[in-house]
Amino acid sequence: KAPKVLLDVKDLTSSYGRIQALKGVSLHVNVGEIVTLVGGNGAGKTTLLRSISGVQPITGGSITFRDKDISALPAHKRVPNGIGQSPEGRQIFGPLSIEDNLMLGAYTRKDDLIDYDLDRVYKMFSILKERRKTAAGGLSGGQQQMLAIGRALMARPRLLLLDEPSMGLAPILVDQILEAIASLKEEAVTVFLVEQNAFAALSIADRGYVIETGKITASGNAKDLMEDDAVREAYLGV
Ligand code: ATP
Repeated sequence: KAPKVLLDVKDLTSSYGRIQALKGVSLHVNVGEIVTLVGGNGAGKTTLLRSISGVQPITGGSITFRDKDISALPAHKRVPNGIGQSPEGRQIFGPLSIEDNLMLGAYTRKDDLIDYDLDRVYKMFSILKERRKTAAGGLSGGQQQMLAIGRALMARPRLLLLDEPSMGLAPILVDQILEAIASLKEEAVTVFLVEQNAFAALSIADRGYVIETGKITASGNAKDLMEDDAVREAYLGV
């Protein structure tokens, strides 16, 4: 059976004034896949994610989600369509409890699976359950990252966009976060993961893309990319 394309980005361009941050990016994510976009500082990863979620204006190209061109939809209309994002920098509401932060993720929902999903997040990140009544601001960086992912999951997105979830975390927490992301595959969540930590991201992904100064320079099966000499030299420190 041919894979079903969930997200299809074609020839996308985006600029900040005279700086062209995306110079014609094309990539796609199939239903059920974990796809990663790796690249160094300033390559355009965040700009691409923000374009997909609709908070960054694009200057050309198209974004198709579930066979619908969403390029012109405002950001708030993309969430009900099933695009959920855990933003870089996390944006946790510190004074609110962990549970309230999680429930904020479900604010657009009207179905009765919210409790089920809350439970699912607590199973995935037990520390969030243990501390659910305490203020989110008291969590460590890694725990806040878990909370940000959990909150994004509470929207029950068809596509989860993750911006550098390993940023600033100790190696042991990086492993824990990535394991949790990998486990989302069993929950039939489709993930588009943007990472500077190329090795970690490729090790849990099905497919990957490499971005350099606003252009895709390599793509393919995650395993093949990890064995690609140019990728290894540039991103894996080999
Ligand atoms: P990082 O991992 O450092 O966030 P990135 O791959 O996400 O990097 P972007 O943040 O998308 O890269 O940046 C792409 C390019 O756009 C860079 O050249 C950057 O300097 C530029 N840029 C990003 N944000 C702005 C902005 N608000 N104003 C002007 N230029 C920007």
